[in-house]
Amino acid sequence: MQQQNGYRVMPMLPLRGVLVFPYTVIHLDVGRKKSINAIEEAMLIDKEIFLATQKDAQTDDPGEDDIYHIGTVAEIRQILKMPGGTMRILVEGICRAKIRQFTSMDPYIKVEIEQFNESDIEKDNRVEALMRTLISQFEQYVRMSKKISPETVISVVAIEEPGRLADVIASHLTLKINEKQRILEALDINERLEYLCEILAKEMEVLELERKINIRVRKQMEKSQKEYYLREQMKAIQKELGERDEKITEIEELKEKIEKANLPKHAEEKAYKELERLEKMPPMVAEAVVVRNYLDWLLSLPWSVETRDRLDIKMAEEILEREHYGLKKPKERIIEYLAIRKLAKKMKGPILCLVGPPGVGKTSLGKSVAHALNRNFVRISLGGIRDEAEIRGHRRTYVGSMPGRILQGMKQAGSKNPVFLLDEIDKMTMDFRGDPASALLEVLDPEQNNTFSDHYLEIPFDLSKVMFITTANSIHNIPRPLLDRMEIIELGGYTEEDKVHIAMDYLIPKQIKEHGLKDINISFTEGAVRKIIREYTREAGVRNLERQIAAVCRKVARQVVEDKNYYANITSNRIIKMLGPEKYRYGTAEKENQIGVATGLAWTEMGGDILAVEVALLKGKGNLTLTGKLGDVMKESAQAALTYVRSRAEQLGISDEVRDTYDVHLHVPEGAIPKDGPSAGITIATALASAMSGKPVRNDVAMTGEITLRGRVLPIGGVKEKVLAAHRAGINTVILPVENKKDLDEVPANVKKRMRFVLVEHMDEVLNETLSQDEKRPG
Ligand code: ADP
Repeated sequence: MQQQNGYRVMPMLPLRGVLVFPYTVIHLDVGRKKSINAIEEAMLIDKEIFLATQKDAQTDDPGEDDIYHIGTVAEIRQILKMPGGTMRILVEGICRAKIRQFTSMDPYIKVEIEQFNESDIEKDNRVEALMRTLISQFEQYVRMSKKISPETVISVVAIEEPGRLADVIASHLTLKINEKQRILEALDINERLEYLCEILAKEMEVLELERKINIRVRKQMEKSQKEYYLREQMKAIQKELGERDEKITEIEELKEKIEKANLPKHAEEKAYKELERLEKMPPMVAEAVVVRNYLDWLLSLPWSVETRDRLDIKMAEEILEREHYGLKKPKERIIEYLAIRKLAKKMKGPILCLVGPPGVGKTSLGKSVAHALNRNFVRISLGGIRDEAEIRGHRRTYVGSMPGRILQGMKQAGSKNPVFLLDEIDKMTMDFRGDPASALLEVLDPEQNNTFSDHYLEIPFDLSKVMFITTANSIHNIPRPLLDRMEIIELGGYTEEDKVHIAMDYLIPKQIKEHGLKDINISFTEGAVRKIIREYTREAGVRNLERQIAAVCRKVARQVVEDKNYYANITSNRIIKMLGPEKYRYGTAEKENQIGVATGLAWTEMGGDILAVEVALLKGKGNLTLTGKLGDVMKESAQAALTYVRSRAEQLGISDEVRDTYDVHLHVPEGAIPKDGPSAGITIATALASAMSGKPVRNDVAMTGEITLRGRVLPIGGVKEKVLAAHRAGINTVILPVENKKDLDEVPANVKKRMRFVLVEHMDEVLNETLSQDEKRPG
C-alpha cells in the first residue's frame, strides 16, 4: 500500500453515480469494456486502480472533461465475474489523488496522478475541536435518522485521524454526488471538517422538519381516522336503535315526495336545501323537528294543483237557484260577476263582499259560487283577528310557529284556485302587533298577490288564481282601503214568509238528512214552522231557526234509534213540548196601551229589532237620568227630546208642576246591549210626552226618526230591516220620517200590504198618532 505523495501512472475506472472515499470498502458493478480492461490491467500490476466519478452518470464513454479530476486510489480486494460479461468488484479506498493528465484513453483509461498522503497531519486544537463537534453532531444525527447502526457510531467515534474521521462519516451520509465530491476535493483538513459539520447541521434541520411534518401528518390521519371510526360506531348504534334506518327512509321518502310534488322552481330549491339541512342533523334534535314540519308544510301546499273551471252561466244560475230561496238581487249580481269572468278570463275583477246580518246566507252563497264554478271551497273567519301574524304567519324562529291563516286555508283547499271565503272582514281589530288589514290588502290585491309572502314559508306563494269572497255584517267597520277594492252585495233580512219558505224547502230537508232521518220519520206543519219563527227566534236571518229545527230533528232521531218506523208530525202544539216554553212574545210589543212606554225601531248589525223606551217620573228637581247603556248620540237625542217636550208643555197638557219639579228617569231595557244612534229621538219624545201628560201610548205603533229641538223629524237608515222587525213583532203601524218614503220600495210587497205607514215631518204628527186621549194624571 503506497501512501506517500508522488506521481504515478495507473489505470482508471470512471464511476457512475457513486463515489468512493478513502478508508471505505464498497462493491462496484462494472460492465463497460474499457472499465473491465482497466481492472484486468490493474490486477496484473498491483491490484491498485484510480477511481474518479463522472460528472454525468449518463455518459457512456466519458472524455477527460467528463470526469472529476480528484478521486481515490483504491485496492481491488475481490473480483466476481457475473453472467453476461459483467464484473462485481470489492474495492477499498486508500487515499486521495488528483489527475495530472490522461495518458491514454484506449483500450482503457490511463492517468498520471498525484497522490495525497494524510497520515501525518498535525492535530492542532482547532482540528481537535472540529473533530469533537463533528463526532457529537454525528451521534445526534444517528439518533435522529435511525438509518445508521449504533455499532457504526462506536467505530467512528474511535477514529483518531481527522481526515479519516471525516471520510468515514461522509461515506455514511446519504448525500448528493456533488456534495460528496466537494468533501473529497476538500484537501485542507479544516475545510473538510467544517464543511461536514455544516452538512450535518443542515441534515439535522431537515430531519427535524421531516419529523415535525410526520407528526402533523400522523395527527391529521389519526384525527380523520378517529372521526371515521366514531362515525361508523354512531351509525352502528343508531342502526341498533332503529334510528338510522328510519332517518334514511325518511330522507328518501321526503326526496321522493319533493320529486313528485311538481313544485315551482323556487320552492323545489328551497325544499332540497332544507332536506340537506335535515340530513346533516341527528334525528332527535329540536331543530330537526322544525325542519321536518317546515317541509311537511311546504309539500302540503297546492303549488300546482288546479281544478278546471266550469264557466257555464246557465248552470251557475241553476245551482244558485237550487240552493237558495229568494235573494234575487244578490244572485243576479253574482251571475253578472261570473259572466264577466267568463268573457275576460284574465280580468282581475274586484272582490265580492257580501254584507248582511247573520244567518241570511252569505256563507252558503259563497259555497254555491264554488259549486257553480266547480271549484274547491274554503272559509276562514277573520273575526277577532288583531295580529298581522295571523294572516301572514310567524317566522320559523318562533317556537311552534306556523303559516298564517291564508296558507292554512290554501292547504285545506287543496288546489291553487279555490273559492276562498273571508268571513267577518269587518270584525278585525288593530293593535300594536301590526295591522291585519294591511296584510289582507296584499292578499286581495291582484297586482301583488301572485307573490304573497308568508313569514313562515319564506318563499312567495301565488294567490292570483284564488277567487276571494268576503263577508261582513256592516260596511261601516270595513277598513276603508279594503272597502275600495270590493264590490258590495247587500243581503237584507228575511220576512216571515221568506223564512217559512226557506225552512220548508231548504232547512228542514237539510236537517232531516243531516240527522240520518227519512221522510217517513218526520214532517213539519207550516203552523209549527211559523210558531218557531215567531216565538222561538227573533232574528233577521235564519240561523236560529235552523238551530231550532235541528233541535226538533235531534229529539225525533232519538226515538227513531229505538224504533225505525217511528213517525212524528210536528205541529205547533208539539213544538212547546219539544222546545220548551216560548222565548219571545209574538204580537204587540206591549199587550195594552201604557203610559210612558213607547216602541221604537232599531237597526243593528244583527238586523232590525224593536226597542222599548220607558220613562218614569219621580218628585225631584227636574233632573234627567238615563240608563240602559246608551251611547253619546242617544243621550243627546234624549236631552233634545226632553227640551222639546218641556217647551210644548202647554199644548200637551203638561202641568207646570210636572214640568218643573219632577225628575225624569229614562230607561231602555236589555241594558246589556249597547245602543246608540239618533233614530230613537221621536220614540223618546213620545215616551216623555206620555209620561208627563199622563196619556197612554198606543201599543200597536212603532216608530223611528231623529228629532230636532223644535220638533222637526229627520230621516234615518235601515228602513227595510226596521220594518221587517216591526212586522216580526206583530206591529202593524209604523211611523217614519217623510224623507224615508223612498226606502219603502225595498220592503217586500207582501209585508207592505199588511202594514200601515205614517210618514211624518213634525213631532206633533207623531204625538197625534201615538197618544190616545184618555189621560190619567201622574202622581
Ligand atoms: P251567514 O253566513 O250570512 O251568517 P249562513 O250562510 O251561515 O249565513 O246561513 C245560515 C243557514 O241558513 C245556512 O244553512 C244556509 O244554507 C241557510 N240559508 C240562508 N239563506 C238561505 C236561503 N235564501 N235559501 C236557503 N237557505 C238559506
